Amino acid sequence: MTSLPVHTAASAQAVMDLESAYLLQNYSRYPLVLKRGKGCWLYDIDGRRYLDLISGIGVNSLGHAHPRITRVIREQAARLIHSSNLYYHEFQGPLAKILCETSGLDRAFFCNSGTEAVEGAIKMMHAHGRRISPEKTEIVALENSFHGRTIGALSLTGQPKYRQDFEPLMPGVRFVNLCDEPAFEQAVGERTAGIIVETIQGEGGIYPISPQWLRRARELADRHNALLVFDEIQCGIGRPGAHFAYQLHEPPILPDIVTLAKPIACGLPLGAIVANTKAAQSIAPGMHGTTFGGGALACRVALEFYDILDELMPQMRRVGAYFFERLKQLQRRYSFIRDVRGFGLMIGVETDFPCKHLVAEGMKEGLLFNVTHDRVIRMLPPYILTEKEVNKAIAGLNRIFRRV
Ligand SMILES: *Cc1c(COP(=O)(O)O)cnc(C)c1O
Repeated sequence: MTSLPVHTAASAQAVMDLESAYLLQNYSRYPLVLKRGKGCWLYDIDGRRYLDLISGIGVNSLGHAHPRITRVIREQAARLIHSSNLYYHEFQGPLAKILCETSGLDRAFFCNSGTEAVEGAIKMMHAHGRRISPEKTEIVALENSFHGRTIGALSLTGQPKYRQDFEPLMPGVRFVNLCDEPAFEQAVGERTAGIIVETIQGEGGIYPISPQWLRRARELADRHNALLVFDEIQCGIGRPGAHFAYQLHEPPILPDIVTLAKPIACGLPLGAIVANTKAAQSIAPGMHGTTFGGGALACRVALEFYDILDELMPQMRRVGAYFFERLKQLQRRYSFIRDVRGFGLMIGVETDFPCKHLVAEGMKEGLLFNVTHDRVIRMLPPYILTEKEVNKAIAGLNRIFRRV
């Protein structure tokens, strides 16, 4: 195959120099220029290989260059990529049906990103509340949460570092601390239109919310006729070893709305809101929409992903449990490891010191992971991870920890 002339710079340094001259300086990237990937492995511009344990922050669910995904993208790109929501195409309906059947909810809406899914959920909460009373527009959210970067989603994000430069944000949001149940009880009332919870807090450091707390949220939402939203943009769609993290508990705790995005289209931008009939009724024709959302290409890829997911789920549970156990072994060896927590293929390793610098150490060992919440090494590997790759990861982590 001859290579096409593309306007890219030749060396890693040239790539970084061009970006630093012309890009908004909002990211502090690691000095790594990626070129291609295969399975759980990524290759940089100089041909060095890295085991991908973060998968584009939980997005590349089937790793890189998955043959079935690549084939479907080629095929669909040659037929129809986008047609707007003025018309029908073949793929939104079947995908919505899968989302409804796996979630236990009734209706889906497609958008392009996590934050856009949260924005839609905010509109549903507000519309639901206002139909009952003009004062019923408050939303209760959790401290240490992350719901996205647009103004509405940011207003629900309970971490000052993301918010402080952009205030004033959307009014009417009350934050409660996970450990303060009386305050939670007090915060929810007549004026509450909705409660939003990340079932497993991701950016906040991989903190699973307890089933007791989730049940309390369900009860309070019901008592005050508020909508309960679970944000499973990071922790949903198979990653926790179940379709949704709220299904990990027995009996499952159903939300009124679940927001989704990251892994659903294997790297293509696609988000979704899935709602029960009650929540879905808050939106009438004309009240909400999107130009790009739910395009034919993204939806077809998501359908292919779901076709693969069912076969993959047993392996994900097995490899996730194995990874967890091996990390627990490291915890027993290194006293600075305070905790290992998570479900399935969403695992956090908490250290008793700020550990951002370990990301660079990981890169030297050929491992890509990130650090969130200052002290938590976060693993969000592709769903196709194997035991053999876990062994490689553990060997590399062991070398890193030995140098600490
Ligand atoms: C990533 C994330 C978002 C925001 O998603 P974007 O696609 O970056 O807008 C919202 N909520 C949770 C829980 C997330 O992890």
